Amino acid sequence: MTDLHAPSRLAPSRLALVPFVSVANMMRLVHDIGLPVMLRELADAIEADFARWEQFDKTARIPAHSAEGVIELMPTTDGEVYGFKYVNGHPANMKAGRQTVTAFGLLADMHTGYPVLLSEMTILTAIRTAAMSAMAARHLAPKAARTMAIIGNGAQSEFQALAFREVLGIDTIRLFDLDPAATAKCAANLAGQGLRIEPCRTAEEAIEGAQIITTATADKRYSTILTDNMIGPGVHINAVGGDSPGKTELARDILMRADIFVEYPPQTRIEGEIQQLEPDHPVTELWQVITGAATGRRDALQITLFDSVGFAIEDFAALRYVHAKALETGLHDELDMVADPDDPRDLFGMLMRARP
Ligand code: NAD
Repeated sequence: MTDLHAPSRLAPSRLALVPFVSVANMMRLVHDIGLPVMLRELADAIEADFARWEQFDKTARIPAHSAEGVIELMPTTDGEVYGFKYVNGHPANMKAGRQTVTAFGLLADMHTGYPVLLSEMTILTAIRTAAMSAMAARHLAPKAARTMAIIGNGAQSEFQALAFREVLGIDTIRLFDLDPAATAKCAANLAGQGLRIEPCRTAEEAIEGAQIITTATADKRYSTILTDNMIGPGVHINAVGGDSPGKTELARDILMRADIFVEYPPQTRIEGEIQQLEPDHPVTELWQVITGAATGRRDALQITLFDSVGFAIEDFAALRYVHAKALETGLHDELDMVADPDDPRDLFGMLMRARP
């Protein structure tokens, strides 16, 4: 358990200062830990929090939609620690040289309400999403899976490839993107990582021989990245890109043939691939597979689908992990973001004493 009261090394006398992990420090932290280790440890940390699912306050994330995309707030608490993430999804951003997804997040002490961490989460979201996908696949993918197709070779793609190498032992990645420049970037980034990389010209070619298919495309509409005839028995589909109302990647017929696993049904029914189905279509909650209350993969012919949308508990686990590592390594700044007068009732006096 992370000690939220552990004094920061930088300013032990001013506990109201809030540790802040900037983008620069997040990158240092990832390299200090090592990305492969971090992917494995985060997969385990998320799994541990899913195993204690019932301790969490859960709510579907709160979206604000525009014509271009969505901004979302993702809160949760386990009664001791509170966390939230601010995240956006704007598929057209990329053409203007911006990220599709950016994020930051905060942890607070439930007993005082004081924030204890503010962190960048654009990089952290890519890492936690990949760790989550791989953790889910650990329960759902065929045991002998060694080849994964990744359709959509943007910002998330390399993280997905490395997480599946680390957690499942995937050794071959088949890549496809509508934009060959994205595939070339992904292939170049993954060179020398101990993976066989096979760029493909079509989605059909990419899924040939793949036991796991990851879809990570970005488009603000109902797309059909995978059609029914492309999906044979026994595969595991890790559908990452359909995560908002009106934004899906799979043909409905695939959903009708698959056993579907989700994070938090009230959120996934609105945002996931299953928004295409009747509201009472059966799905299995992943946390129940983790606790043993439900079965994951049953047999070699079953099509399993992880209908990933991203849930607050994953970010909570990631933020607690980063909090511990940031304090341990000193890789953080200190933010003066909580007004905390010596006499708690004299906020006004504190302000007046600061008069120029
Ligand atoms: P990105 O914009 O960097 O990359 C998306 C890629 O998909 C682009 O290279 C684009 O050319 C490609 N693409 C679009 N339509 C395609 C199609 N029909 N066929 C093949 N390729 C296509 O986006 P990103 O940051 O990598 O995110 C990918 C998706 O994952 C987004 O939709 C994002 O919202 C989603 N996402 C989900 C989670 C989650 O937890 N489930 C977390 C983060 C991001």
